[in-house]
Amino acid sequence: MAAQVITIDHPLVQHKLSLMRRVETTTADFRALMREISLLMAYEVTRDLPLKLQPIQTPMAPMLAPMLAAEKKLVLVSILRAGQGLLDGMLELIPSARVGHIGLYRDPHTLIPIEYYFKVPTDIEDREVLVVDPMLATGHSAAAAVARLRQTRPQSIRFICLVAAPEGIRYFHKQNPDVPIYTAAVDDGLDEHGYIIPGLGDAGDRLFGTR
Ligand code: URA
Repeated sequence: MAAQVITIDHPLVQHKLSLMRRVETTTADFRALMREISLLMAYEVTRDLPLKLQPIQTPMAPMLAPMLAAEKKLVLVSILRAGQGLLDGMLELIPSARVGHIGLYRDPHTLIPIEYYFKVPTDIEDREVLVVDPMLATGHSAAAAVARLRQTRPQSIRFICLVAAPEGIRYFHKQNPDVPIYTAAVDDGLDEHGYIIPGLGDAGDRLFGTR
């Protein structure tokens, strides 16, 4: 199967992303928009989740009602630290999902991503994983995070970001052709420092107001 890039082109997502991109958007607004956009993205990413009919009672009558077949089988894995922004909104929509965290930093000499934190649910083998990180730039951290997650043998993995660079998509899918990428935008490319152009700047700094 061809590697999939699913662009979430819903007008609300596009509008909110444009607001986030603007340089004058404040930290508070950026954070609020990130939360709102992650709710909308969670809606799209979970569109194909299976349902099963369960007996319930309405005030009027019993019925067989469609409910998520595996609501508790989802794991949201945040790549620290910017992943936290997408995680919070998605958890509001899927409150019973489990949560994992992966921390990576880039070795300044080799530029290889080094893991400094890894914690996922112990029963991840039974679960579907949604990895979240707002920016898919070079693709190195995303690919390293997914390679590490594969060792835990989850049922499936999807990757969710806000903005992707073509270079990052190529790098990521070369190693992970089976992992679909959900993104709100595919931008022009990377600058010499690995920032996405036009992008939105450093997502972590804008989210946490650290610069
Ligand atoms: N990480 C970010 O936060 N922004 C970019 O443009 C690239 C990587």
